[in-house]
Amino acid sequence: MNAETKIHEGGCFCGAVRYALTGPLTYSAHCHCRSCQRAIGAGFATWAAVAPKNFAVTSGEMTIYNSSPGVQRGFCSKCGTSLSYAGDDWTDYAILAATLDDPAFAKPTTNVYLSHQLPWVVLDDELRTYQQFPE
Ligand SMILES: [Zn+2]
Ligand SMILES: [Zn+2]
Repeated sequence: MNAETKIHEGGCFCGAVRYALTGPLTYSAHCHCRSCQRAIGAGFATWAAVAPKNFAVTSGEMTIYNSSPGVQRGFCSKCGTSLSYAGDDWTDYAILAATLDDPAFAKPTTNVYLSHQLPWVVLDDELRTYQQFPE
């Protein structure tokens, strides 16, 4: 790793599992697929990926759930936070971008599986916007 490669760290809600990304992102995308919706309990999942050699768990242990054949979804067995996605036929290792300590840098560039997009997941200028939860 050269000096210009920034290390990005992240982890689960309770702090038991910590990880580090030691290389550039290969992509960042919103995935709308039904499996991601179910796996993380949200309308879509925002993934950021690196080359597998640039991902390491630095403390604790991720539990792996095989959500489909050849697919490994990692999560913290203490607090339940979903953390990662890897596939046998995948060249990247993906982490859920919001679990990064600094998620802002992993700005998504793509939407994938829009065929599964929920009807209420829309970017609509007419929606009310709140900077925080309304009083
Ligand atoms: Zn945890
Ligand atoms: Zn997905």
